[in-house]
Amino acid sequence: YLAKEGRTGVELYQPDKDRNSPERLTLLGDLRRAIDNRELRLHYQPKVGLGGGDVQGVEALLRWRHPVHGPIAPSDFVPLAEQSYLMRQLTAYVIEEALEQAAAWWHTGLRVQISVNISARDLLASALPEQLEVGLARYGLPPAAIQLEVTERILTGDQAYTQETIKALAALGVPLALDDFGTGYSSLIRLQRLAVSEVKIDASFVRRIAESEDDYRIVRSIVDLVRSLGLRSVAEGVESDDVAMRLVEMGCDVGQGWLFCHPMPAEEAAVWLRDRAGASVEYGYQPEVSSS
Ligand code: C2E
Ligand code: MG
Ligand code: MG
Ligand code: MG
Repeated sequence: YLAKEGRTGVELYQPDKDRNSPERLTLLGDLRRAIDNRELRLHYQPKVGLGGGDVQGVEALLRWRHPVHGPIAPSDFVPLAEQSYLMRQLTAYVIEEALEQAAAWWHTGLRVQISVNISARDLLASALPEQLEVGLARYGLPPAAIQLEVTERILTGDQAYTQETIKALAALGVPLALDDFGTGYSSLIRLQRLAVSEVKIDASFVRRIAESEDDYRIVRSIVDLVRSLGLRSVAEGVESDDVAMRLVEMGCDVGQGWLFCHPMPAEEAAVWLRDRAGASVEYGYQPEVSSS
């Protein structure tokens, strides 16, 4: 099944890297059709508290099974969409799906925050705050039922429009996480100026903290920095007990990765989450990010 992708040994289809190749243009057309036909699915991966194993939310991750090419990884089609007019539609689609899922879970007592990945470009002159406001109201959800994850690339370049959208999201009460932290050029000052509630440390640093003294020091200093700013730290790509133990040792708040579980379709995720019902009552609810 899709959740096992990457472990099956089956080659994933990879589009040509050349930006204007006919192959990529065809794939863009296919993607648009897939959005229209609602062929794209979201899988959900829990974020687990490293202190007590409580569930802190789930991240929604796009899955696309192409009718001809089979499964295509988001890292192969999201960047393609990002360079085109399709990104807006893709993001709107993902947010709509996530809201619908959040509502379905929420109203059956599964109060789990769903994190949605958005592109840095979605924050430019964006209709995002309005879509979220309307959607949350329609489903009767509190703003913190959804979180947006955006890469630290938003910290660079022209920030005027971006800042405006971020302010609108903050006013709405929808929390923001900084994704893939450490891979870009973020400075402490910029991080401080940004209204984020969570920083996700990129898997490329987390993966080797059990073997590499350098990586251990880098991750520990990020965790310290994030804590000193009063934010929540999340380690991505936690695959082993050794890594999890070291994260606990440095005081990292939350872990996400194959050690806990792979991204799963909604029904499977619901079973997994309900199995942890004892820990699920307070699901990721940070009183300070609720709207006032
Ligand atoms: P991301 O937001 O950093 O998501 C984490 C990625 O790490 C996911 O890859 C997830 O499946 C993978 N992962 C989780 N645990 C482990 C682990 O223990 N080890 C390893 N090696 N990997 C792990 P995925 O699903 O292939 O997504 C890749 C990227 O594509 C995401 O990175 C995100 O940037 C983007 N993406 C995915 N879904 C969406 C979406 O709905 N919208 C947008 N704009 N981007 C998306
Ligand atoms: Mg993410
Ligand atoms: Mg990430
Ligand atoms: Mg990452």
